[in-house]
Amino acid sequence: MTFSTPPKYRGRLAPSPTGYLHLGHAKTFWAAQSRAKSRAGALILRNEDLDSTRFKMEFVDTMLEDLRWFGFEWSEGPDCGGPFAPYNQSERMDFYRAALEKLRAGNFIYPCTCSRKDIQAAIRAPHAENDEEPIYPGTCRQNQQSEIGNRKFSWRFYVPDGEVISFVDRNCGEQKFVAGKDFGDFIVWRGDGVPAYQLACVADDAAMRITEVVRGADLLLSTARQILLYRSLHLPVPDFFHCALMLDDRGRRLAKRHDALSLRALRGQGVSPEELRANWDVSDPARP
Ligand code: GLU
Repeated sequence: MTFSTPPKYRGRLAPSPTGYLHLGHAKTFWAAQSRAKSRAGALILRNEDLDSTRFKMEFVDTMLEDLRWFGFEWSEGPDCGGPFAPYNQSERMDFYRAALEKLRAGNFIYPCTCSRKDIQAAIRAPHAENDEEPIYPGTCRQNQQSEIGNRKFSWRFYVPDGEVISFVDRNCGEQKFVAGKDFGDFIVWRGDGVPAYQLACVADDAAMRITEVVRGADLLLSTARQILLYRSLHLPVPDFFHCALMLDDRGRRLAKRHDALSLRALRGQGVSPEELRANWDVSDPARP
């Protein structure tokens, strides 16, 4: 009998440079780093800088500096290169175009001319909790690209209505989401020519051979969407470990509006990373 060796653990940190990193990011990233370390794996830093309307160049440098200050160490990234370079998403458009083309060739997506306003106006189902994308009513499902002319359009993924997408999250346990009910047809390529998060994330996690995705629990529903993309692109699905979100004293999830909890501000007050981590139980739960 032969046993094949499992692939070496590869985890990643995937921050978006749209503001200063805060304590909530640091906690999730710390879990990612702890899991990679305890498995003698690699930790990759990917700069998710696709959304040029929201990110600012100055945040890229501060992001790297804040991560280093906090104690993060990565072996591949935009600053140090690596076998799966480039690690800035803005330089990886060819990967995303190739993925889009595969989805188009397989008839998994359709051109959608709805504006954000049309979509909002046509909502039938309530928003899924913690997920900002409304359920798309299917208005453009029958569209053919040849009929669009020179109208602006986005590419939308055709979800298999009624299918239960399930996966076992390594932290949160078994998850089940119903396509068309918990989430609808989602955008993979925006009308302004920018790949959507769902597509870029899957294309990169697969290309960079990520074996486990560690991120916030607010992205559990996105994982269901991404599983559909992995399947359509014939790519292996990584494992997932979603971390509980850090909440503020009013029970709201930390966001970039919480300037006082940015790593930058805390550092400015003379707080040390060790003090900030003192009560965190992210050492590495006894899970697989
Ligand atoms: N750049 C995304 C974010 O900051 C990454 C999400 C993920 O880890 O997949 O929300």
